[in-house]
Amino acid sequence: MVIFFIAKALELITESRFCDRIPEMIIERAIENLRSRKVSFDIDNTVVDTYGRAVDVYNWFLGTNYRIADVKSNWQLAEWFKNDTSVEDPLAAARNFYNSRVVMVQANPVAGAISILSRIHKARLNPYFLSARPGSKRPLTFEWFGYWTPWFDRNSFLLQEEGDQVNPGFKVESINSQCIDYHFEDIPEDATIIHNNTQATIVMVNQPWNQDFSLDSRFIRSTDPKSMSSLAYAFLELAKSLQQ
Ligand SMILES: [Mg+2]
Repeated sequence: MVIFFIAKALELITESRFCDRIPEMIIERAIENLRSRKVSFDIDNTVVDTYGRAVDVYNWFLGTNYRIADVKSNWQLAEWFKNDTSVEDPLAAARNFYNSRVVMVQANPVAGAISILSRIHKARLNPYFLSARPGSKRPLTFEWFGYWTPWFDRNSFLLQEEGDQVNPGFKVESINSQCIDYHFEDIPEDATIIHNNTQATIVMVNQPWNQDFSLDSRFIRSTDPKSMSSLAYAFLELAKSLQQ
């Protein structure tokens, strides 16, 4: 009887270890499958948890109690600033706030981002990081990545060179110029423009503001309830699709 229980316990332990290893195995195989393909990551809210940090700083600064789940679009901060009658231009205030050092540099990574990116790097894949961020914010971008992922060199970054304008068309130009196959994205509007003007497949990182969005082709998104605000789950979904 004792031997039976020990055997059963060992079986359960082995099984749970095997289950734990499944995502690992899928990711390793996906990385192998990606050797012949090109991958790019949008930066804000795909790799860098910029909006999460913006919400925290906004709450601290203005005494509100918003959550990331309250963010319904990329312009949510501007909507909140409209409630402050002392702010003349809510859109400009939101831009300045979002693009500030305390938000851009001090944001945390999106869940699982560093784990996935370090595996990709160790496997000697060369992903691109691309953003419509204003060119004037390049130093802040390099500061963040220099801290969190110092192993990626500057050739991995496709960023606007100068100016203070956000330019969604820049993502399309970058994806076409590098012949990207898979692009990780969180903004529905940008995903649509990229889908319509490139051959890339969109891998959506689930965020509260993109839950109703879909594309009829070249579109991958996790339906796992734990996948909200997680790059790891988005990557796992791409990995699964590459196995099929
Ligand atoms: Mg983004």
